Amino acid sequence: MPALRRFTLDELEMPLVEPFETSFGVERRRRLLIVRLESTEGDVGLGECVAARDPLYSGESVATARWMIQTYLAPLLWQEGLLSPQEFSRRAAAWRGNPMAKAAVELALWDLWARRHRRSLSRELGGRRNRVEVGVSVGIQATVPALVRRVGEYLTDGYRRIKVKVRPGWDAGPVAALRREFPDLRLWVDANQAYPVTAIDAVRRWATRYGVEQVEQPFPEHALAGHARLVRGARFRVCLDESIGDLATLDAALGMKALTSLNVKAGRVGGLGPGRELGRRAARASLPAWIGGMLETGIGRAHNVALASLPPFTFPADLSASDRYYVPDLVEPAFELGPGSTLAVPQGHGIGVEIVDSTYRKHLRRRRELRRKAP
Ligand SMILES: [Mg+2]
Repeated sequence: MPALRRFTLDELEMPLVEPFETSFGVERRRRLLIVRLESTEGDVGLGECVAARDPLYSGESVATARWMIQTYLAPLLWQEGLLSPQEFSRRAAAWRGNPMAKAAVELALWDLWARRHRRSLSRELGGRRNRVEVGVSVGIQATVPALVRRVGEYLTDGYRRIKVKVRPGWDAGPVAALRREFPDLRLWVDANQAYPVTAIDAVRRWATRYGVEQVEQPFPEHALAGHARLVRGARFRVCLDESIGDLATLDAALGMKALTSLNVKAGRVGGLGPGRELGRRAARASLPAWIGGMLETGIGRAHNVALASLPPFTFPADLSASDRYYVPDLVEPAFELGPGSTLAVPQGHGIGVEIVDSTYRKHLRRRRELRRKAP
């Protein structure tokens, strides 16, 4: 039985190809943590933390995740034998919250175990697809014509499903312009909680009028009743993302009929195991689920693509090609958009992509070896 030999926590800074603006802020450069585990048998596992530099999307940040991993999570791994991802999640559940920090370690364990078993992460998780259908998420742009131009470029690239970020003041106008320009566009919108529940009628009006297929997380995360009201009589799907962090909340939301689509992000819900559970529960309730992204580099992207290859995730994922976000990406081969708006699921061992050392070193800002504490 192998054990852990080395636990490395790296902090990197990567410039985004273009600024990504949502209802809560603009990101130009992404600060991120990478967990690297090495077993006594020499197998390596990588995990990426999706926490951003500042606690805007959720309460976690790079600094809180670093602290959580160093103080509580890394010590869990210094055991006699190497923990499985499931056992890690079970033990880590003793501490509340911090799902992004937990996911970074959990993802690395999955990669390590899949490599140890000499199979792809997709296979290790029970994935069935060789290609996954994807769409692209388009941030808030400076002007409406700029948005229309940007969406046109993505459609030319081959993306078939477009999701645009919206917020009060950047909704009906941009959406109407897109519908005028692209009458057949498969259009989703995501507000990242930007609207008060009192805006329900306005949201319903423009989403219906301009043929929006799906409205994602318009209201605050705890406003399940507000989302349930929007679901009633809606001619579009109501997707929950930030609201659903665990099975208990998903069950509550299902009971209230507060959603008709579910966005699962492994990095946000504590990892691939918890993400898989959410997908399976959704499938049992005949609720379409799909995989979201959080500006991951090729490392986190590879984990997400593997998860998207599982049967419950039937809607196109928010997992674009590498060049949508980073040029060059941290890994090889980079993810490229293929026929039918798809990405290939890597078939190599583990996440199936390898770090490009020169690129990685260029963006590395800080490295720390987390050692076993003396007894
Ligand atoms: Mg979202």
